[in-house]
Amino acid sequence: MKKTVSDIDVSGARCLVRVDFNVPFEPGTTTISDDSRIRAALPTINYLRERGARVILATHVGRPKGIDDALRVAPMAARLSELIESPVTVAPDSIGDETQQLAAALGPGDVLFLENTRFHPEEEKNDPDHSAALASLADIFVNDAFGSAHRAHASTEGVAHILPAVAGFLLDKEIRMLGSILESPRRPLATLMGGAKVGDKMAVMERLIETSDMLLVGGGMAAAFLEARGLRTGKSLLEDDGPLLAARIESAAKARGIQLLIPTDVVVASELSAEAEASVVSTDAIPADKMLLDIGPATRDAYTRALRLCQTILWNGPMGVFEFQQFAAGTRAIGETLAQHAHGNSPAPHSATTRHSGEGRNPSRGPTGPQPPRAGATVIVGGGSTAEAVDSLGLADAMTHVSTGGGAALEFLEGRALPGIAALQNTT
Ligand code: ADP
Ligand code: MG
Repeated sequence: MKKTVSDIDVSGARCLVRVDFNVPFEPGTTTISDDSRIRAALPTINYLRERGARVILATHVGRPKGIDDALRVAPMAARLSELIESPVTVAPDSIGDETQQLAAALGPGDVLFLENTRFHPEEEKNDPDHSAALASLADIFVNDAFGSAHRAHASTEGVAHILPAVAGFLLDKEIRMLGSILESPRRPLATLMGGAKVGDKMAVMERLIETSDMLLVGGGMAAAFLEARGLRTGKSLLEDDGPLLAARIESAAKARGIQLLIPTDVVVASELSAEAEASVVSTDAIPADKMLLDIGPATRDAYTRALRLCQTILWNGPMGVFEFQQFAAGTRAIGETLAQHAHGNSPAPHSATTRHSGEGRNPSRGPTGPQPPRAGATVIVGGGSTAEAVDSLGLADAMTHVSTGGGAALEFLEGRALPGIAALQNTT
């Protein structure tokens, strides 16, 4: 376990807080289109301010090569200032004399926002002198940037070896939530994987297969699993080694005796575009000139039924190309089911996800008997696109946890130690 800000005395201390405010912008503007990463850091920032700490925030923005006016932190600082209803001073740099002076001048509860950490190439090189320059601004280092914890950079890892270093509340929550999947999940545990490529998700699937009771596959990677079973998937997105990788997963699932569900029907089209005309076909009859772009209605039904039997669900990867509405139904149905299931609700009769339950069976009861406890399942969503999908459906708050870490969450679930976490102090 890692120490958090609540395990140490922060009152009056100068705290360098690494956050991940690398938020999406409206293209060509400085308008923040999604501030959820900023809001996710508020518990830590507010906690520190309430205790009279002097808060010095650091984040990277984008991938600048040197100083880049389009990637300054001013818009994030402005949004934060609105959210905390208090002024936020923006420093001209992340290190240096002027920044030092601004940090030294902070009063209890004041907030200083350092300029984009990546304006210095030394940041990504984890340069020791650069880490020391950052560390000289503060007494304590607080890492609340889960989305950057898989990177060993000066502001995520280097400083943690110089200052007393603890986790912020967001980082702590991510560790506990994602850690519960690997360590002590309520069972049955389902892993639901989707997204574009099987290759991207191999390591995490191989790790999760060791602890899951069920693996369900959707998205583009379904093509690899279908091909591995000797089915043809037409023009579907398929990596050269996709079928081989899928076969490896399938045999690992067999060896462990866990259930592997792959689509029995899919939504196909001739091309991937907003105008493409969609149709539903069985997965043993995908036309040679079509590509699969979403799971079909029978698969939606089978997956939602299976997921309702599980007490813990990890979902990574959209079920289809949800960015286009004709291929979004699979992701929507799964998202709505999981949102209800997380609240322990039997689906309401009028709900969109029960459209297919006309057979008169209560889908929440499952095929084999009594209802699962009403407490609600633990539903954890990981992955940048999946989080975006869940958010755009308005379902994020209904889930137990939506991880703010894309790549970091995947690496964590692979069982790898993340450098930004490893460098923090342990409890006892
Ligand atoms: P995450 O970021 O949640 O980990 P990925 O990056 O693996 O998810 O995949 C997200 C992308 O996968 C989305 O942009 C989505 O359009 C795409 N995708 C989903 N299903 C398909 C499919 N059947 N064919 C091609 N691309 C797909
Ligand atoms: Mg992604």
